[in-house]
Amino acid sequence: MTLFEKIAAGQIPAQIVDRTPDWIAFHDIQPQAPVHVLIVPIRPIARVGAALPEDAGVLGQLLLAVGQVARKLGVDQSGFRVVINHGQDGGETVPHLHLHLLAGRPLSWPPG
Ligand code: AMP
Repeated sequence: MTLFEKIAAGQIPAQIVDRTPDWIAFHDIQPQAPVHVLIVPIRPIARVGAALPEDAGVLGQLLLAVGQVARKLGVDQSGFRVVINHGQDGGETVPHLHLHLLAGRPLSWPPG
């Protein structure tokens, strides 16, 4: 099981923000902004570039989850950034697709 499957299964504790049968959202253990939430499909996809046509439904659910979680945490008006890291140069460390939702401070551009 991946780390995030274990979190979804309750085997590893996490601060859960929201969940549905398709995805779970929880606070990142090493937050890079005042709000830093990971949105993760329950059924693992290794990384975004490995998604298959049959994953289209859950990929859409993940993007819809962004707005739902942002509204729940009260950052939809102030703004936020969504990041997906793919592979070594992208900074991926957990091989289970996840969206980073970052908010609560102005975020610089370009990213590092
Ligand atoms: P990435 O580098 O894009 O693969 O992101 C992985 C993220 O998972 C990092 O931001 C980590 O801080 C976060 N992370 C690792 N372990 C945990 C955990 N047990 N609970 C919550 N977040 C975690």
